[in-house]
Amino acid sequence: NSKYEVHEHDVLIIGAGGAGLRAAIEALAQGVRVGVVCKSLLGKAHTVMAEGGIAAAMANVDTSDDWRTHFRDTMRGGKFLNNWRMAQLHAQEAPERVRELEQWGALFDRTENGDILQRAFGGHTYKRLCHVGDRTGLEMIRTLQDRGVHLGIDVYMECTVTQLLKDGDRIAGAFGYWREQGRFVVFRAKSVIICTGGIGKAWKITSNSWEYTGDGMALAYDAGADLMDMEFVQFHPTGMVWPPGVQGILVTEAVRGEGGVLRNKDGERFMERYDPKKMELSTRDVVARSIYTEVREGRGTEHGGAFLDISHKPADYVKRKLPSMYHQFLELADVDITKGPMEVGPTCHYMMGGIRVDAETAQASVAGLFAAGEAAVGLHGANRLGGNSLSDLLVFGRRAGLAAAEHAKGSEMPEIDSSQIEKAVHQMLAPFERSEGESPYSIHEDLQATMQSLVGIFRNEEDLQRALSEIEALKERAAYVRVEGSRLFNPGWHLVRDLQSMLTVSEAVTRSALARRESRGAHSRIDFPGLDDAWGKKHNVVVKKAGMMSLAETPVLEMPDDLKQLLADDSGAK
Ligand code: FAD
Repeated sequence: NSKYEVHEHDVLIIGAGGAGLRAAIEALAQGVRVGVVCKSLLGKAHTVMAEGGIAAAMANVDTSDDWRTHFRDTMRGGKFLNNWRMAQLHAQEAPERVRELEQWGALFDRTENGDILQRAFGGHTYKRLCHVGDRTGLEMIRTLQDRGVHLGIDVYMECTVTQLLKDGDRIAGAFGYWREQGRFVVFRAKSVIICTGGIGKAWKITSNSWEYTGDGMALAYDAGADLMDMEFVQFHPTGMVWPPGVQGILVTEAVRGEGGVLRNKDGERFMERYDPKKMELSTRDVVARSIYTEVREGRGTEHGGAFLDISHKPADYVKRKLPSMYHQFLELADVDITKGPMEVGPTCHYMMGGIRVDAETAQASVAGLFAAGEAAVGLHGANRLGGNSLSDLLVFGRRAGLAAAEHAKGSEMPEIDSSQIEKAVHQMLAPFERSEGESPYSIHEDLQATMQSLVGIFRNEEDLQRALSEIEALKERAAYVRVEGSRLFNPGWHLVRDLQSMLTVSEAVTRSALARRESRGAHSRIDFPGLDDAWGKKHNVVVKKAGMMSLAETPVLEMPDDLKQLLADDSGAK
């Protein structure tokens, strides 16, 4: 359609975090034309914020480590709801992906022998996280970006995709707008890979930045793809709690990995009561629930959190190992962490659920559509282990790039009928045309309050039912939202579309959480506190049917005997 700016690529990647960039590098290596679109500036994705490290069984520090132990830890952490094949591929391929990153110029912290240094993290049997102080993501994104740009990816930054375009049943491209000018743009593509990251902005207290509104999951859902495991939202145990303006900002697990200790207001090291074996390095779901329980039962700090203390370590060690944390607390909270404790509490952090994909190829349930990274589902099951996201991005970003390029090579450029584009344009412009209506900001605030109070760490039937009716009411309000001003950089207008995505994913999370009548990993039902064997054998799948959100169940994939054997001694799961 010549009315709008049009770009054509074999493979279009939506999202320029670790998954998107790694996919782009791989697709380019297959000799196809690759475009990467991102909502903010290149390099500003969540990946850049990753602190603690990349999990890979390199066995540089603990020589007994191998892929089998990493596989077992990941499956245990995910309470066996993980796609076993993804967990296997991830554990087997992560070391190679890290070495490759090093060959491309990433400078990791080193052991005395000159190998990549690895640190302890919750749920990992061995010291496994390859890191660069507490700025691992920055080094990872710098390296991938350098390589990608050098190889010749076309980057469209500050450009938001609002709809996937189809040709019959297959993907044909995407539609979006330039954030600065508000002009519309059409991308034609044979394959599209969604690498848009998480959904944290639907909650009030979150470690996520403004971009993480669940767009990719909502785009895929609207295009007919399945979402899965949407009830599993990770609340990281340690976000900042004070002062109010910085509430939710992440305090990396590396603080505990480097020996940080959690205490309540009475000075008690309370993890002794919740997980005496693993203590502070228990899995995130357990530590988050423990802190939450301490606060609820009146043993929290003045500002409603717990104390996290690393000040028993030498000051120069803390500054060297945790430079970002040192500055973060000094500048934002006026606390010197080499001298005293931090105040921390749970923060909405990571989405285990997402777009359902094939383990080998990252292909979603719509032809030509692929997904990788946080937007995809499978590797982490009911709870992700720290460090397993960065390795996920590298392993499955690469696989998605490869498969999407192969798919593109074997197909013709699809057609896009102009009525789809006109419909997308109409939807985007409607909020300007209403003479009355509500501001998107108040609806967003109400959604965050609902998700925070009713779909949080602990859930029950009554709260979830209430959340569902509140989301319904918010959807009605959002249908009559109004914005003022022009299309030139207009954040209120941008929020209107983001809000649609957040409402879609919030509804999917709530419906799935209602259905799963048990507690598993990050999903805790007060009214169903135990594991239920029947629920251990199935996933919730969310799909759009006749314009409505519908829920189905699908069985957990059967694991081959040799892998079952690896997990055989697994009492730790219960
Ligand atoms: P992201 O890096 O989140 O990138 C998403 C991309 O999609 C961005 O470019 C964004 O602009 C783009 N996008 C989104 N919507 C649209 C749209 N509609 N149109 C166009 N573009 C769009 N994990 C670890 O393993 N180890 C760690 O130490 C660690 N530390 C973390 C610290 C913090 C503070 C946070 C928030 C997360 C941390 N994580 C860590 C998790 C990990 O960083 C993320 O899960 C991971 O980076 C996600 O990568 P991604 O490639 O899937 O997406």
